[in-house]
Amino acid sequence: MSFSDMPVDVGPVYEGERIRANQMYVELGGPKIEKHFELVRVKSPKEIKDGQVILHGPDIKDMKEGERYPIGILVEVAGPELEEDLEAVFERRIHEFCNFVNGIMHLNQRYTNWMRISKSAFEKGLNSFDMLGTILIRLYKAELPIIEQAQVTFYTDAKEIEKPYDMALEIYNKRDERARTIHDEDVDMFYGCVLCQSFAPTHACCITPDRTSLCGSINWFDARAAAKVDPKGPIYEVPPGECINELAGEFSGVNEMIKKRSLGEIERIYLYSGMEFPHTSCGCFEAIDFYIPEVNGHGIVDRNYGEVAINGLPFSAMANQTGGGKQMPGFNGVSIQYIASPKYQKYDGGIETIVWMPKAVKDRIGELLPQDLLPKIATEEEVQDINQLKDFLKEKGHPVVETWAELEAMEEEEEEWIEEGAMVPMGTVGMTIPGVGGAGGFKVILKNCKIHAESIIIKKIEPKRRKK
Ligand code: SF4
Ligand code: ZN
Repeated sequence: MSFSDMPVDVGPVYEGERIRANQMYVELGGPKIEKHFELVRVKSPKEIKDGQVILHGPDIKDMKEGERYPIGILVEVAGPELEEDLEAVFERRIHEFCNFVNGIMHLNQRYTNWMRISKSAFEKGLNSFDMLGTILIRLYKAELPIIEQAQVTFYTDAKEIEKPYDMALEIYNKRDERARTIHDEDVDMFYGCVLCQSFAPTHACCITPDRTSLCGSINWFDARAAAKVDPKGPIYEVPPGECINELAGEFSGVNEMIKKRSLGEIERIYLYSGMEFPHTSCGCFEAIDFYIPEVNGHGIVDRNYGEVAINGLPFSAMANQTGGGKQMPGFNGVSIQYIASPKYQKYDGGIETIVWMPKAVKDRIGELLPQDLLPKIATEEEVQDINQLKDFLKEKGHPVVETWAELEAMEEEEEEWIEEGAMVPMGTVGMTIPGVGGAGGFKVILKNCKIHAESIIIKKIEPKRRKK
């Protein structure tokens, strides 16, 4: 496949390319634009025209330098072997294929998609969506040979995007609804995905009925369809093997998979925990589950939440802690769908430990959560800091409040021991340091543990200064 007729190079080598604000010609979608989406649909060959690129709205060359615009990408594909279940997996490839283009950066998926086109690519002549559409069509047909015809439509006008945006949301909802009909114990196969390894080389997703991929875009049905048509591709079967720990969601087959795919870096995963051996996070998780030590509970913050979360950190700062393919107890990248699953962080206490989430997330999944718990979960509308959160939880009788007395008693007992200068009996029970958190600095409590270390360094992480 040749791209010699294109003004910029195209290939996997450009996948990790970052385009900073001062290097960008225009931004498309992203958190500051209200409606944007990307969607793949399977069509009959009669409904589309192979190779056609359609544009509704201004073209790249008509856009103002430094500005932001809506972006809707609708890829329609046809082929005798195609089925609807493959749509979500094809859709996830938009991310990869756009990133193949030197001078285009693509982040996220579905309705959180976010792109930048660099000034240098524009100067080289990448000034039309016709080129980007043609590149996508060629890549789709070359990389996924079961696609025989493809057509791409772009929407860059705020009015024109409205209808297709609503249609896209409806389709995402339908996929999510279907995914909620089955659970991990109903199946004998899980799936893995390594599409994000170009950004996070030790990361592989384990996709189960209860744990939709953390990017939110590939559920168990989608993964099953993808692994069936391309078993050697980036989405593959993971036989669960022996269930080692049911509460934690630890399976021998999943451990084997992550060990192999992370090249030995990660050895164990608890599918249902953000606190011990958590599932790794790449960078495109829809939300973060974070531990709040002050209340012994968890918060959830989603990518679209523009404010500082209840622990004093914005999503972006927590995302740096969470992502990159590391196991970071206390910060776990999750999909919004997983929050509604009965397995949600079961090992850590489950949904009953959730004390805070943005109003928008609560509105979106509220009806899927236990209805008696719902009024006990605070949002930015009810509380602004940890002290207010504590009062709120007490007033509403949130289940985590019951754990406070126990914690306080343990703390007091330890303080007494220290005051008395007593030898404190120590076990070697595993411990968890939840990482940086808390509006008023942070607190590290180590219980029943013995530490042998040459040194402990605690450093304040200063926010990076912006260059003027
Ligand atoms: Fe695949 Fe996971 Fe990346 Fe989604 S987040 S594309 S499932 S590796
Ligand atoms: Zn990712």
